[in-house]
Amino acid sequence: MEQPDTLPETALADVRARIAQAAGIARRDPAEIALIAVSKTHPAERIAPLIAAGQRCFGENRVQEAQDKWPALREAHTGIALHLVGQLQSNKAEDAVRLFDCIHSLDRPSLLTALARAMDKAGRRVPCFVQVNIGAEAQKGGCAIADLPALLAAARDADLPVAGLMCVPPAGIEAAPFFALLDKLAADHGLAGRSMGMSDDFETAVMLGATHVRVGSALFGARG
Ligand SMILES: *Cc1c(COP(=O)(O)O)cnc(C)c1O
Repeated sequence: MEQPDTLPETALADVRARIAQAAGIARRDPAEIALIAVSKTHPAERIAPLIAAGQRCFGENRVQEAQDKWPALREAHTGIALHLVGQLQSNKAEDAVRLFDCIHSLDRPSLLTALARAMDKAGRRVPCFVQVNIGAEAQKGGCAIADLPALLAAARDADLPVAGLMCVPPAGIEAAPFFALLDKLAADHGLAGRSMGMSDDFETAVMLGATHVRVGSALFGARG
């Protein structure tokens, strides 16, 4: 596996500085922006140095992988917040609700029903971002923009807390228009959270209103 040429703690300081700089340009308070360190595929030994450097907010995209890695890390360190950033199957909703503090991939009524039921059963409300298929891509996860009002209404009816909207823009083209669109959709629906921006574009996302950036390879190096 390719390793970053910098130490994880150096990479963390660099990403934090770049978030602060982008926030400054947009006249935003950097404290408004949560950095989610996406640790998928990386073992606990690679994650521990970031925790030691003060990072507490992490993202995983697979329930099983997170179940394998995080209970031990959480026992060793206080204050860890775990975010699910990947697609979620309804049959994994109960595990996800037990394990994660925030879910970024609510995108369809069947999953909403499963999550609401799992939250009732666990006695725990886990904030969710509604993932929007912002580029209307055929194979991509996410709720169609046209279906967003109904999904948000269903979430309200089910007493499922919606933190905001999340997107992964189409690859290979400028992300800014998609971030701007997600920001507008969130504003239109009175939602505070905008989960947008990854290693290649988090500064643009911060300038366009991101409240949560999901950064993996810029912190951990390329995934194998
Ligand atoms: C993997 C992943 C990220 C992080 O991607 P990088 O390009 O490595 O920063 C962010 N969001 C989602 C949904 C992901 O699956």
